[in-house]
Amino acid sequence: MFDKTLAELAIGLKTGQFSSVELTQAYLARIKAEDDKYNSFITVTDELALEQAAKADATIAAGDAGTFTGLPIAHKDIFCTQGVRTSCASKMLDNFISPYNATIVDKFNQAGAVTLGKTNMDEFAMGSSNESSFYGPCSNPWNTDCVPGGSSGGSAAAVSAQLTPAATGSDTGGSIRQPAALCGITGLKPTYGRVSRYGMIAFASSLDQGGPMTKTAEDAAIMLNVMAGFDQRDSTSADRDVPDYTAELNKPLEGLRIGLPKEFFSGDINADIAAQTQAAIKEFEKLGATVKEVSLPNTALSIPAYYIIAPAEASSNLSRFDGVRYGYRCENPTDLEDLYKRSRGEGFGPEVKRRILVGAYALSEGFYDAYYNKAQQIRRLIRDDFSKVLSEVDVIMGPTTPHPAFKIGEKSSDPVAMYMEDVFTLSLNLAGLPGMSIPCGTVDGLPTGLQIIGDYFAEQKLLNVAHQFQLATDWHKQSPQGI
Ligand code: GLN
Repeated sequence: MFDKTLAELAIGLKTGQFSSVELTQAYLARIKAEDDKYNSFITVTDELALEQAAKADATIAAGDAGTFTGLPIAHKDIFCTQGVRTSCASKMLDNFISPYNATIVDKFNQAGAVTLGKTNMDEFAMGSSNESSFYGPCSNPWNTDCVPGGSSGGSAAAVSAQLTPAATGSDTGGSIRQPAALCGITGLKPTYGRVSRYGMIAFASSLDQGGPMTKTAEDAAIMLNVMAGFDQRDSTSADRDVPDYTAELNKPLEGLRIGLPKEFFSGDINADIAAQTQAAIKEFEKLGATVKEVSLPNTALSIPAYYIIAPAEASSNLSRFDGVRYGYRCENPTDLEDLYKRSRGEGFGPEVKRRILVGAYALSEGFYDAYYNKAQQIRRLIRDDFSKVLSEVDVIMGPTTPHPAFKIGEKSSDPVAMYMEDVFTLSLNLAGLPGMSIPCGTVDGLPTGLQIIGDYFAEQKLLNVAHQFQLATDWHKQSPQGI
């Protein structure tokens, strides 16, 4: 049962093969038995899950079930969940019980979903390895000595280890796609504004976007149908119709134009990953696609631009954690200044402090033009590069990451080496474009991801392209040894 997709589980529920309570109990027992190996959950919400499952069973019995009724999922611990700890994997919020739900949590609840729990992540979503979590690193189910990627590492590991059929994630510079690639699952970062950010704890507001992490593209479509849509409570949410994301999954790919940016196949990239990506492209040619080389000349600049813009926004967003309103407060402050300084000094971990320092520096008088403004100019160039290429091709493809999963501890003392792992994912966030990662091979027993990039609001197209690949290949069906 644990290898079943959301689509398959939905049929099982509707045809009475099992109840939502039975399904939920099975997953909760599996989390209890297995998650010591991975540390993919921060909080398991047994009581809430069983309550929601019983309600879902009543809805199914009454004949009122929707697609999602009774399906279990997990939420990245960046999404506020009413009455449940929402920690963002930080000591700062270790004691924070959210008084309200994020919009997407409300949407899943209204759709009848069952919340199994909250997944591990990098502290405040800052990282590419899930090592900066206050609750300790999460392990990659394919090799528990390796990182699952980050920052949505817990969601990716939990789906990969079959502790949940699907999970939510957030992606500021790659945090859905990179861990999806490293754990051999499917991840979709929607167009900026497609999914509400309300109640998703802010890291860098002009880049943050929530999305689904699943076994298949079909499941990602089912998840996005619930998540997408305009939200008055998020001023950057897109006010446009939500199509049925499952409607075009079966369109043939005959005539699809694929662009391969030459910059995605040069530099420090693992040769096997490059070869696996090329092999995947060959599959698309068999399905009727045409391929041409394109250029995104400013790809390498996405790293310095992102690592100014994201920390700048983070330094501003994280100023709200001051030890006064909510979250961690230091013991026995001598005065207000001491309260601020020690609450923040003791509540934040080293990567978060690094980002706040870099961001505050880049925004300070005298440096603003040299760093922040320059980075914004590069951001524009990156967007223009994509617009040009996407006027000539339907989708852009390349590897999601330059390397497979690395060892826990291998890059944690070298932040720049860690940042380099984001080279293929950051530029989409800077441009606001949608992107997916789907499994396309293995290197030394570790999974690799194919990244598919589309134009603004082209999620239907991305899902169609990914689904057709998954009908023709079995990479998405591979699971870690012993699972
Ligand atoms: N790895 C990137 C960072 O550390 C992206 C993180 C994310 O997408 N949340 O900022």
